[in-house]
Amino acid sequence: MNTAYLSFAYLLSSVLFILSIRGLASPDTARRGNILGMVAMLIAIIVTMFSPLVSEYLWIAAAVVFGGLVGTFIALRVKMTSLPQMIAAFNGLGGLSSVFIALAEILAGSQSYLESSLGLLIGAVAFSGSVIAFAKLQGLMSPKAIVFPGQQLLNLLLAAGMITVCILFVISGSPNLFYLLAGIAVILGFLLVLPIGGADMPVVISVLNAYSGWAAVGIGFSLNNVLLIIVGAIVGASGTILSYIMTKAMNRSLSSVMLGGFGIEAAKSAAAGEEKTAKAGNPEDAAFIMENANKVIIVPGYGMAVAQAQHVLKEMATDLRRLYDVEVKFAIHPVAGRMPGHMNVLLAEANIPYEDVYELEEINREFATADVAYVIGANDITNPLARTDPGSPIFGMPVLDVEKAKTVFFVKRSLASGYSGVENPLFFADNTIMLYGDAKKVTEEIVGTLERK
Ligand code: NDP
Repeated sequence: MNTAYLSFAYLLSSVLFILSIRGLASPDTARRGNILGMVAMLIAIIVTMFSPLVSEYLWIAAAVVFGGLVGTFIALRVKMTSLPQMIAAFNGLGGLSSVFIALAEILAGSQSYLESSLGLLIGAVAFSGSVIAFAKLQGLMSPKAIVFPGQQLLNLLLAAGMITVCILFVISGSPNLFYLLAGIAVILGFLLVLPIGGADMPVVISVLNAYSGWAAVGIGFSLNNVLLIIVGAIVGASGTILSYIMTKAMNRSLSSVMLGGFGIEAAKSAAAGEEKTAKAGNPEDAAFIMENANKVIIVPGYGMAVAQAQHVLKEMATDLRRLYDVEVKFAIHPVAGRMPGHMNVLLAEANIPYEDVYELEEINREFATADVAYVIGANDITNPLARTDPGSPIFGMPVLDVEKAKTVFFVKRSLASGYSGVENPLFFADNTIMLYGDAKKVTEEIVGTLERK
C-alpha cells in the first residue's frame, strides 16, 4: 500500500481511538466508545498487513487466528467479578509483546537502541508485575503483602543495575546486554508487586496498565510507527491518570503503594481481637425495619457482584419507594468491587437511575440522617479501622460511614473479612444486624416480604 494511504489510515485509526476513549468516559456513551475502539483496531490491523514492511503472512495469519480465538473464548467465559484478573493478564501480554518486538528489532539489526531498550524494560516490568497481580487476584497466591528484610534496598540496587545496563547497551548495542536488561526488568517486576497487598491492588492494576502503554510508546518509536506511539500514549496517559485518581480515592501516595509493605500489620490487628458476638437477623425483620424507615441507603460491594443481586436490589428499592414511601439512595465507594466503576456498571445494568446513585463524598454525611444502611456484599469499604487504626493496611482509605445510620444491615454469608483480610469491627456493633446468606437470596426474601403485605 502507498505510504500516503497508510499514513491516512493510521491517522483515521488514531482519531477513532481518541473518540473511543472519550466515549468510555460516561456509561451513556461507553458502548459506542467500545465499538469505535474495535473499528480503530480493525483498521490498524488490516492496514498494517498492507505495509511494505510486512513480507510474510503465514505467521501473522496464524497469530491472528490463534490470538483471536483465545481472546474470544476468554472474553465470552469471564465473569464480571474476574475482570480485574483478565485486565492484569492482558496488561501482562501487552508488556510481553513489547519485549518480543524489542528483541526482534535488535536481532534484526535495528539501531534504535534507546527506544527499544525503554520498550523492553517497561514491557518486562509490566509483564512480570502483571503475573503476580493476576496470581493474587485469582487467589493462586495470598493477596497479602509479601515482604522480606532488605527488599527495598534490593529493588533499589536492581533499578540502579537496570539503568546502568541500559546505558551500556545504548553505547555498545550488544545483544547480550539486552538479554541481561530483560532479565533484571522481569525480576524487578516480580519484586515490585509482591509487597503490595491489602486493598491496594486496584492501584497496581492501573499502574501496570499505564506501563504497558508506555512500553508500546517505546516500541512505536523504535519501529517508527506513529499509530503505536499515539495509542501507547493514550493507554499510558489514561492509566497514569486512573492511578492518580485511585490513589487519591484511597488516600495514598503512589510511592507508598509501590514501595509496598501494607498488609502485614493486618494479621496482627485481627489476631489481637477478643471473642465477640454479632447479632443475626432474618429477612422478615429487615423488611419490617426498612418499610418503617424514612431513609434507606444501600451500599453495594463485591458480594453483590458475585451474587448478581443488582436486579433484585432495584426491585427492593422500588418497593420501598412505591409501597412504603421510603427515600432510597445508593452509595458507591470508588474501590467497591474489584474494578474501577464496578458498582456503577452493575447498577446501570439494572436500570437504577444515575440520580439515585451517589459517590462517597456526596453521601457520607447523609448516613447520620438515615434510618437504615443496607450493606450488601460490601466489607472493606465500610471498615472504620481505616479511620482509627494506624497499623491497619487500609488505614487512611476513606470509608463509607455506615455505622452512623440508626440500623446497619450487613448482608453476607459469614463474618469473614473482605479483600484486604482485615476484620471489620462493625459486625459486632450495637446497631448492626447481620443478615447471613447469599446477597441475592436474602434480598429476594426481603422483596417477597415487602410485597406480601
Ligand atoms: P470486600 O472484598 O471487602 O468484601 C466483600 C464481601 O462480600 C466479603 O466479605 C464476602 O463475605 C461477601 N460476599 C462474597 N460473596 C457473597 C455473596 N454471594 N453474597 C453475599 N456476600 C458475599 O468488598 P468491598 O466491595 O467492600 O471492597 C472492595 C475491596 O476490593 C477493597 O479492599 C478494594 O481495595 C479491593 N479491590 C478493589 C478493586 C477495584 O478496582 N475496585 C480491584 C482489586 C481489589 P462472605 O464471604 O462472608 O460472604
